[in-house]
This record gives sequence, C-alpha cells and structure tokens, in this order.
Amino acid sequence: MKKIGVLGAGQLGRMLALSGYPLELDFHFYDTSGKPSVGLGDITIDTKADIENPALAAFLNDVDVVTYEFEHIPLELTQHIESQTDLFPPSRSIKVCQNRAEEKALFTKLGIPTPKYHIVNNAKELKAAVEDLGCPVVAKTTTEGYDGKGQFVIRSIEQCSEAWDSIGNSPKGKMTLIAEEFVDFKRELSVIAARSKNDDMVVYPLAENSHHEGILRYSIAPAPHLNKEISDQAVTYVKELMHELGHVGILTLELFETKNGLVANEMAPRVHNSGHWTIEGCASSQFENHLRAICGLPLGNTDAYSPTCMINIIAVKGDIESIMSLPYAHVHLYGKEERAGRKLGHITVKADTLEELNWRVQNIASFLPGNPDFEGSKNEKN
Ligand code: AMP
Repeated sequence: MKKIGVLGAGQLGRMLALSGYPLELDFHFYDTSGKPSVGLGDITIDTKADIENPALAAFLNDVDVVTYEFEHIPLELTQHIESQTDLFPPSRSIKVCQNRAEEKALFTKLGIPTPKYHIVNNAKELKAAVEDLGCPVVAKTTTEGYDGKGQFVIRSIEQCSEAWDSIGNSPKGKMTLIAEEFVDFKRELSVIAARSKNDDMVVYPLAENSHHEGILRYSIAPAPHLNKEISDQAVTYVKELMHELGHVGILTLELFETKNGLVANEMAPRVHNSGHWTIEGCASSQFENHLRAICGLPLGNTDAYSPTCMINIIAVKGDIESIMSLPYAHVHLYGKEERAGRKLGHITVKADTLEELNWRVQNIASFLPGNPDFEGSKNEKN
C-alpha cells in the first residue's frame, strides 16, 4: 500500500484521502497552520514549517510521495522535500503559482492572453500604473492573496494611496503589488487538467464559476452553451502550461470569457474548488486523477455524465437536514466551525437538463442563508 504525504490538512486533503482509500492509498498530513480540519489519516503539526524539525524527517520517512493541497508553502520547505523524495507537482509549479508576477510572465511567454498589468512597489508607482491603464484597475498583492483577500478595485486616481495603505502596507511588511486592467468579462470559467509523469494529459469540461464577495459560490459544469473554439483554446492553454512547467498532477487555470475570447486570470497547482463537481459528475474525480498522476497510475475518464452544479456552503451551514432529504443532493461537510467567509462544505447536484438543474439548485440554495440567490448560467440561451 502506497502512503501519500500531503502538505496541508484542510478540506482538499480530506477529499484527496476520501478518493484515495478505494485505490488502496494511505495518507499522512503535514499541517503548518496548527489547525488541521482533515479529520482522517495521520497528522503531523509543525507551525514553523522548519526543515530542521525531526518531525519532518519522520514524515518524509513514512511516505512514498509528497503532494500539497495549497500553494502558499515556503519554497525552502518544498525544495528541501524535493531533495529528499518525490514531490508532485514539482517546486517549479508552486514557485510560479504563488507569485502573480511570475504567473503573468509565464502566460505572456506562452502567448496566453492576460490583462495588461504593471508590477509596483510603492504608492507613486501604483499611481503611474493607474494613469497608464485607466480606471477601473484591480490592484492585488503578488503573493499570499486568495478568495479576494489582498485586492482593491481602484475606481478613481484619488484612491491610489488608500489602495496602497490597504494592501501594499501589510502587517508583514511592504508588499509588491500587481495593478491589472479591469476585464469586462461575460463570465468566469475554469479549466482543470491532469498530467502524468509520461506526459499523458486529461482535461475536464470547463466550469462556469460565480463569485460573491470574492468567494466562489456556484460552479456549473460543463459550462452551459460554451462555444467549441473557446473550449479548445482553454484546453490548449492548460496543456501548454503543464508541459512547460513539467507539471505532474492537477493544474487549474482560471479564465475570463470576454467578447474577444479568453483572458487568463490565475492558476493553481492543485485540486480546485471549481472541480468539486467531478466527485459525482465524472467517472474519475479531480482528486482521484491527481493521485493517479502522482502515483504513476493511468489517468481516468474526465467526461461529465450530465449537467452538474456545485454549491458552496459558506459561513453558516443552513438547513442541512432539509437538503439531505432531497433525492438529488449530495452533501459534503468539512468538519469546520461556522465563521464569516469560511468554506464549510459543498453540495453537488446533477440533472438531465439545464432547466432541471437550475430549479434543483435554486431549491437547495433556499436552505442556505449564507448564499446569494442562484441566477443560473450567465450564458443562458432562451
Ligand atoms: P483572483 O484572486 O485573481 O482570482 O480574483 C478574485 C476575483 O476578482 C475574480 O474571480 C474576479 O471576479 C475578480 N477579478 C480579478 N481580477 C480581475 C480583473 N483584472 N478584472 C476584473 N475582475 C477581476
């Protein structure tokens, strides 16, 4: 039986393990947050992420291969692990994905369209960038941002110093920011793919994602009424990225669909919230295909069975028992306490048609007070 070492011990690690046990895989989690919520497998806690910690050596000795469920890990730690054992995806993928400047440079190198941007190190440079790009501008920290944190939408030039003070001067010190032109998108899409050690690649149908207050709320997949050219383009982009990075495992690319085609926003070297629908929606989920890839097993089928939607449970659990009594709702809870903005679980629902999917999702959402109303696809064709 192979043992998988996972850096991080939250819900993504939990779902990795749940999909790995049927493949006779075992799990050991290395938690640097001090608050593991994974609720299964072996757990080592090391809040300093210290490469000299004997617990790290014991962890590495216990596992056959190491992966991770989040990318905000000190590179010193991942490079140390890589010098001792197999780490997939490789450090190069983490390095690029944890820094928006490196990510954008890679998109540009590969000819993948991305919003026009400037990297800035102080309020004066930010103002010059905004003058060049024209308002509105989205300012983001180049590192450590997630779920809309570390972002400021600048709507007038006078807001530059407020934006700098709000996200450029963090308690941890001065941050480098990226100032991006504001993309007038029709909808947000993501493409999730897996690459094996011998360059086999599989790609899931694209998902259409709706956010509220910077947090993903609904993913519909396959993205309704998606033009084939657009979908082929996304597949080409994600494959080029995986190939270039020497990536092994799942890679997620987030995209904006605009009237002029796709624009890349960011990527993640891991399983992704917009891919949770694949657990019930496909023969092999994103979690299973990640494990297959890093263990050198054949990759599994990524076709969608039918229209599927993933509904996040955010902040409050709502009336879970009523949801569980619905014959079409698959409930996943992550073992976390309620807290503002926190992902507590998700629900997957499938249907034969988009129309049926829409009313099922609206019904489920009515039991979730933390969720905005579900409005269906932004690309509905009536
Ligand atoms: P991110 O952390 O980069 O994924 O950004 C969080 C959310 O902010 C995205 O899902 C978009 O809804 C929005 N956003 C980010 N960048 C831009 C942009 N350049 N133009 C318009 N909206 C953006």
